Amino acid sequence: MNMIAPTPGFVTVPPDALATLADLVGADNLVTVEAELETLSKDCYWYSPVLKSRLDARRASAAVRPGSMAELRSVLALAYVRDLPVTVRGGATGNYGQCIPLCGGLVVDIGRLDRVLEVTDDGLLTAEPGARVIKLEQAARERGWELRCYPSTWVKSTVSGFIAGGSAGIGSITWGGLRDNGTIKRVKLLTLEAEPRELVLEEAEALRAFHAYGTNGVITEIQLRLAPARRWDQLIVTSPDWSALTDFVTKVARDDAVPKRLVSLQEASFGAAFKPLKRWIADGHAVAFFDLEESCSAAMAEAARARGLTVSLTIPHHEPRRQPMLAEYGWNHATLWMMKARPGHTYLQLGMGRDFAAQAEALRARFPDQLHLHYEFVRGRNAAGALGEVVAVLIPAVRFQSEEQLRAIIAAAGELGIASGDPHTCYVEDGGKDPGFEAKWTLKRETDPKGLLNPGKLKAEWTVDGAGTGRREVFPVFLRP
Ligand SMILES: Cc1cc2nc3c(=O)[nH]c(=O)nc-3n(C[C@H](O)[C@H](O)[C@H](O)COP(=O)(O)OP(=O)(O)OC[C@H]3O[C@@H](n4cnc5c(N)ncnc54)[C@H](O)[C@@H]3O)c2cc1C
Repeated sequence: MNMIAPTPGFVTVPPDALATLADLVGADNLVTVEAELETLSKDCYWYSPVLKSRLDARRASAAVRPGSMAELRSVLALAYVRDLPVTVRGGATGNYGQCIPLCGGLVVDIGRLDRVLEVTDDGLLTAEPGARVIKLEQAARERGWELRCYPSTWVKSTVSGFIAGGSAGIGSITWGGLRDNGTIKRVKLLTLEAEPRELVLEEAEALRAFHAYGTNGVITEIQLRLAPARRWDQLIVTSPDWSALTDFVTKVARDDAVPKRLVSLQEASFGAAFKPLKRWIADGHAVAFFDLEESCSAAMAEAARARGLTVSLTIPHHEPRRQPMLAEYGWNHATLWMMKARPGHTYLQLGMGRDFAAQAEALRARFPDQLHLHYEFVRGRNAAGALGEVVAVLIPAVRFQSEEQLRAIIAAAGELGIASGDPHTCYVEDGGKDPGFEAKWTLKRETDPKGLLNPGKLKAEWTVDGAGTGRREVFPVFLRP
């Protein structure tokens, strides 16, 4: 029996609707047991102590695992008719509580819809939403292609979760973020209506579903543009001299003649946190991880040594690739290791200017002993929105004191000309990954007339009353500080 204590706004799936759901997806693929529901209602929101305290009590009333598109369609139709909130779940590695239901209802786990449908000779990959990102990369490489960018969680995360909840990753130093450069070519969506319709969004239109947390349609198919596969060597370079390592890393990151997929730079406190890499990172050494094309890696290693840096590990390219995968110590995996080593830490996401090192030191001077520096290098956008120069994203580990402290650091960063993508909010608009909110709101209006898709995550939703053309703020009041 379901013993979940209702939180404000909680919608219970009534017994007769549960019976219909069991008929639709099979009793084995309907979850009502409290412990399982708790797991299926959570993601990696606990990276943020702010989100942890706000979202801990939130969970679904029931969860389903559709095994075909027809089943998914029937589940959505039922949810519409019975006014059940629907929160789609992929690999649940999102950090912002994206797939935590705020209002109970149904979690729809798309993990069984996981086929890679096609990789074409001209570098297009088509997949079902629940396909794991690592499976996409493997399928692409078998045909001489590779993903343009993937998250460090590629083993667990699904392609639709990456599109609807992610932003950038390994490969972004060459290809930019997920939304850049036409990487997302096509997205197919189902609407939440009595008879769900399929919408096909091509090219720029497809970005309306990007980073929308599943609020404006349920993604059923994705087509991505690929890059020609390269042979990547992995390197660890370390030094006790932070500024010497920073200079070298910056030079490699900005050298367009060196094909690369990963450039990650972290202070010695991070180096000490990577227990499995201990034998390659001496005490007190800052660390850099690289994926460099094999044609350049020897020369880069030589250049590092010439500057007095230590090249402590070179992993030559293998197919399939062998552990350790250094990319799994970058991006938010670095934060994870740091949180394990230093409980009480959290993180921020800051977009730096060209003089990133000076900006970071200025920020740190205002918050002494609170920030540990970790940079990922990505290709930014120029004023016209095309790919621009390589920039640093600072993902500092922060010794957490209070929500006010985090807001103060973000505000101080702004004063220093540093952009922020706030990871301590579950609202689409406050995360700051993509300014195209108007397009997201209008798509929501088209796909979700009752406002049942992941309700509460889009702060502004379309009214269904009156002329139906206005927009109102629909903050879920129970989540307000
Ligand atoms: C250790 C760690 C490292 C990370 N590194 C990166 C990184 O390098 N780059 C990066 O961008 N992110 C990173 N993340 C965040 C996260 O892993 C990625 O965004 C990941 O791709 C999300 O995929 P998922 O399948 O786990 O999505 P989920 O967490 O399951 O879902 C994310 C959002 O997508 C929605 N969604 C899922 N499927 C659908 C669908 N079919 N239709 C509509 N909406 C849907 C969900 O409702 C939710 O709102 C990291 C997180 C962790 C914990």
